[in-house]
Amino acid sequence: MSVADSAATLLAQHGLRQTPIRQAVLRAFLAKTYAQSSHDLEQSLDSNTDRITLYRTLKTFEEKGVVHRVIDNTDILRFALCSRECPPHAHADDHVHFKCSACLRTYCLNHVAIPAVALPGGFQATSREYLLTGVCQQCGVSQ
Ligand SMILES: [Zn+2]
Ligand SMILES: [Zn+2]
Repeated sequence: MSVADSAATLLAQHGLRQTPIRQAVLRAFLAKTYAQSSHDLEQSLDSNTDRITLYRTLKTFEEKGVVHRVIDNTDILRFALCSRECPPHAHADDHVHFKCSACLRTYCLNHVAIPAVALPGGFQATSREYLLTGVCQQCGVSQ
């Protein structure tokens, strides 16, 4: 399946109308293996892409469970594609994120589950983030 096909397929799977900007943003996500900030995405998109349209597109994608926020302890908001096996809205906080201190990229480790945490009585968690910092596969190999 080509990247263009999978962008169209992802939109269809989430019941989203096909628009050129949505397809372009999805292609930009699909081309990268790490979380993207809106600035990163702007670099991949056509230079005349309207920034407000990009923000709106990301907001729609987040609401529909196409992408999720990746918190990486910087003030830059990053997003990553949700993995396909997961049902909508059940995946954003189930896996570990890994920030590489060499390339500064943040990866979704979709297959590494956040370990269960036993909370004291009276505490109820409603969301969770699990961020590891270190050296990624690529940076580790090249050192
Ligand atoms: Zn790295
Ligand atoms: Zn993630």
